[in-house]
Amino acid sequence: MSFNIEKVGVIGAGQMGSGIALVCAQSGLDVRLNDVAEERLNAALATINGLLSRQVAKGQMDEAGRTAILDRIKPASRLEALGDCDLVIEAASESEDTKRRIFQNLRPFLKSEAIVASNTSSISITRLASVTANPEQFIGIHFMNPVPKMQLVELIRGIATRDDTYEAAKNFVVKLGKTATMSEDFPAFIVNRILLPMINEAVYTLYEGVGSVESIDTAMRLGANHPMGPLQLADFIGLDTCLSVMQVLHEGLADSKYRPCPLLVKYVEAGWLGRKAQRGFYDYRGEVPVPTR
Ligand code: NAD
Repeated sequence: MSFNIEKVGVIGAGQMGSGIALVCAQSGLDVRLNDVAEERLNAALATINGLLSRQVAKGQMDEAGRTAILDRIKPASRLEALGDCDLVIEAASESEDTKRRIFQNLRPFLKSEAIVASNTSSISITRLASVTANPEQFIGIHFMNPVPKMQLVELIRGIATRDDTYEAAKNFVVKLGKTATMSEDFPAFIVNRILLPMINEAVYTLYEGVGSVESIDTAMRLGANHPMGPLQLADFIGLDTCLSVMQVLHEGLADSKYRPCPLLVKYVEAGWLGRKAQRGFYDYRGEVPVPTR
């Protein structure tokens, strides 16, 4: 089948969904952006508007360009509105139950030639595909955070994903001006299989009192030349997402080396989810981030 992707549905208007919507609209694609929470939808549109306005202020874009991009993104509070999309990318919270429910609810509205994708950081693409009408047209399209800045997109084929679905996803990534890599469908794929155990180890280092938040982050920034310290990065990703990925690695690979650090669990239980909650390993409520330990 030859797929023509012109209209993209994005489900979940959080950090990732809003970024995906923006890069699609910037590449000339029409976007339908959906979220269960009306306020998240409005916040996403405000964030996108803010990012574009900054580009106008810097002279990187004119006002007409900004309006044209904004006009291409239509909020959709109901899944029905995604019925004419050529590609639907799910970027809702990292919970398998939530994602399965979304794919089941979406089924009746999709056209037969639509491709469905998940931006999941870790969950099996084959398992998610099994609840869709057409697993051959299902694929993992895993963007990195922040989407407008990061060059990489991981593509993950499920066991049933057809070659033409994979080719269409690859062409879509190229159209966005990004670079695709291919990962087999194993827990957390490539980037998070390597990155999240490093972050989890940083949390253990804090938990065991080897170093403070500041020492750990400074050590890895200046000692390993990482642009961000691992705890700063964890806050940026979202501690709930970090924990979910570690749980998927722990359960999926049945190896105790992936055991989520109890301190990470405690932060999530406290609702200290990182930047998006204003508090995580740092407190972001003041002028400058202050370590919470
Ligand atoms: P987020 O918490 O910022 O946003 C999730 C959004 O999903 C929220 O707005 C929530 O209201 C919405 N949502 C929840 N249930 C829904 C439903 N049934 N229907 C529609 N919307 C629903 O999370 P995020 O960081 O944007 O992560 C989203 C997905 O992207 C996750 O699967 C995550 O693993 C993946 N991801 C995250 C990162 C990262 O660094 N944060 C990077 C790559 C991939």
